[in-house]
Amino acid sequence: MTRVVTDKNAMPNELQEFGVEHWPAGITRFDGHQRAFVKVQDGCLLNCTFCIIPSVRPRVLSRPIDVIVPEVTELVASGVQEIVLTGIHLGHYGIDLSKGRPKSEWRRLWHLLERLSDIPGEFRIRLSSLEAAEARDDLARAMASLPKVTPHLHLCLQSGSDRILRLMKRRYTSSGFLQRVERLRKALDQPAFTTDIIVGFPGETDADFEATCRVAQDVGFSKIHVFSYSPREGTPATALPGRVPAAIIAQRRDSLRNLEHELASRYYRSLIGRELDVMVEGEDPNYAGHSLGTSCRYAPVSFPGYVAASRGRRSPVRIHGLVDRILQGSSLERKLDRLPLPIA
Ligand code: SF4
Repeated sequence: MTRVVTDKNAMPNELQEFGVEHWPAGITRFDGHQRAFVKVQDGCLLNCTFCIIPSVRPRVLSRPIDVIVPEVTELVASGVQEIVLTGIHLGHYGIDLSKGRPKSEWRRLWHLLERLSDIPGEFRIRLSSLEAAEARDDLARAMASLPKVTPHLHLCLQSGSDRILRLMKRRYTSSGFLQRVERLRKALDQPAFTTDIIVGFPGETDADFEATCRVAQDVGFSKIHVFSYSPREGTPATALPGRVPAAIIAQRRDSLRNLEHELASRYYRSLIGRELDVMVEGEDPNYAGHSLGTSCRYAPVSFPGYVAASRGRRSPVRIHGLVDRILQGSSLERKLDRLPLPIA
């Protein structure tokens, strides 16, 4: 069989289907990209009823820290300024490496963050999605004490209705999720919370959907990836009764998007006055000569001054306003800051 793979990040998954479990040496350059995605874990032990992963990759495989460190070192040496750690179930990183070993030899996500933070160089580390149950105090402590790790957590909520969470076989209740978020909020400095939510899961009523909106509001997510439920062959959820009509799914999706805009604006406004670490993605299409980038807290930021060479570079930016859900600021690096400010 021949398969064409266009996404380098998908290589480990693709190879695993052909029985290759030892991944090739890591990718050490991402030409033309500002950030590098480093896959550190694969497989999932859980059984969410909408997800096909447990049937196709039921084993957790984590790459040893001693393999990941040289890869990230090379990426940083080649100029990459943001490393995104990814995995199918990132919060389970290391459970296979730690199995049967004394606790002093466990290797979990926070150990990986500590080792990666020791790599010299100007770069930051972002975590991709996590389950709230795994964003525990050890991880929060590491994130709080390691300045290279961005204060941003993508915690998959999926639903805020306890009834739907049970049907999904998720491992938390809405109140457990909120408690976890509160602990993280206290441990970290104004962290950003983003999430995934599925609308239209079988049997989802208006009351279930309202419960989801309430949890989203209580957390104050600054970004919500909204997925419309669609049955995936081979998953238990396909057998559940209560298909939600497409028109209702569309309405719920729109409502969540409106809520996301409101919550994002609220969070972004709370950042006005702060200095943020911004990685330039390109020129701001709305303000010629301005840079548009992504901050450590995953908020888009525009600031005066742009040169093509600044793409992929990070700059400290003082935030002074918000326009159309884009923070406006001024670079604290004088060489970029030479054009007039936009009207905030
Ligand atoms: S949704 Fe995530 S946690 Fe649930 S089974 Fe799939 S990969 Fe595992």
